[in-house]
Amino acid sequence: MNTQETDVLVLGLGGMGSAALYHLARAGVDAVGIEQFPVGHDRGSSHGHSRAFRTIYEDPVYTRLAEAAIPFWRELESDSGETLLFQKGMVTWANEGSPKLQERVAVMDDVGSPYELLTPSDVRSRFPALRPPDGTVACFVPRSGFLDAGLCVRTHVAEARKRGATLFDETKVSGIDLDGDRPEVITPETRFRCDRLIVSAGPWAAHVLSDLNLPLRVTRQQKFYFRPGNSADFGPDRLPVYTDHETEFYGFPNYGGGIKVADDGLGGETTADTVDRTLDGTTRDRLRQWLDEIMPGNDAEFVSGTTCMYTMTPDRDFLIGPHPGNPNVLVAAGFSGHGFKFSTLVGKILTDLATTGHTDYPIERFRVDRFETLSSEGTDP
Ligand SMILES: Cc1cc2nc3c(=O)[nH]c(=O)nc-3n(C[C@H](O)[C@H](O)[C@H](O)COP(=O)(O)OP(=O)(O)OC[C@H]3O[C@@H](n4cnc5c(N)ncnc54)[C@H](O)[C@@H]3O)c2cc1C
Repeated sequence: MNTQETDVLVLGLGGMGSAALYHLARAGVDAVGIEQFPVGHDRGSSHGHSRAFRTIYEDPVYTRLAEAAIPFWRELESDSGETLLFQKGMVTWANEGSPKLQERVAVMDDVGSPYELLTPSDVRSRFPALRPPDGTVACFVPRSGFLDAGLCVRTHVAEARKRGATLFDETKVSGIDLDGDRPEVITPETRFRCDRLIVSAGPWAAHVLSDLNLPLRVTRQQKFYFRPGNSADFGPDRLPVYTDHETEFYGFPNYGGGIKVADDGLGGETTADTVDRTLDGTTRDRLRQWLDEIMPGNDAEFVSGTTCMYTMTPDRDFLIGPHPGNPNVLVAAGFSGHGFKFSTLVGKILTDLATTGHTDYPIERFRVDRFETLSSEGTDP
């Protein structure tokens, strides 16, 4: 078996790992990225045309982190020439008096992030396709929008490679050895030795770090694409991202492949290797019916759907930071169905931690050892 040395090794190049590889390479660090599938594959959590870039949150930490991510997305766009972040706005509605919406509006006030409260008829006149139900109140957030998710992953990796990062795709890590001074990562042909190891394995994280007993739950989620009849009112310039707090359904404008709609409610528990990718007609029909209610006359045809996975922590906060048993291993996992918007910032934070052991970003609540069930022993995948 070959051996290879590197300063930092990134295990898993989905949303988070691709961003880490880019920021490491940008900082001039000798970095290797390993991905079990081709870069940009559709078997993890980061594929497809869109992820909501939501700056409205129930907690100011997340609103501040989303704001902090914006300059890094713009930097990646300027490095690559790609357009990745579409700040076309997001409209969120809930029944009048909804504590959930009031809580989020209070956070926007606290952080000083702009928003407008709108009646359903205000929404209709501003976004002709959209009809939130009567009796609801809507909050329009202009700094929100969406990211072209698949392109973000591919761009992070391409820009990392331009800056000297080494990529091994279609290469599965079969073991991690933490017994020596430096972490070692084993693939079928090579044993890699590194100063720091970043584990960003998404829904595979609990398996890769099996001895840590991470309290992660993987759920099967589905998204569906419908192509609307009158395309003019459904494009990103006339339709923002929209979320309905009463149903937990949300959707995107027609940005490549049709209007995408999904249910943020948790799907059935699964594992990354056994997830059922057959589309569920009942969920598709419920989303179709919702679409007809909020966009009457859409004349939309079902185009396609895909399966994706959420990797949930018990509190829906992320896991970012050192492995409890080995400070040379950094964990980035448990993004709980809302991590993508932060991915480039997470890559920057992981680079800070890998190179200096510290970051100025507020990640204390994401500590990996905050759950009692964790084991502090080393790991074997
Ligand atoms: C349907 C759906 C909708 C979502 N909507 C939003 C949204 O609107 N906004 C938002 O911010 N977030 C959203 N999310 C969440 C977001 O997409 C995820 O939080 C994020 O993509 C997680 O990225 P990741 O890097 O942790 O995982 P992944 O992207 O899955 O990356 C993990 C990578 O590790 C690789 N890997 C694993 N094990 C190994 C191994 N042994 N060897 C080599 N490689 C390995 C995998 O192949 C994979 O590429 C959504 C998620 C889903 C499923």
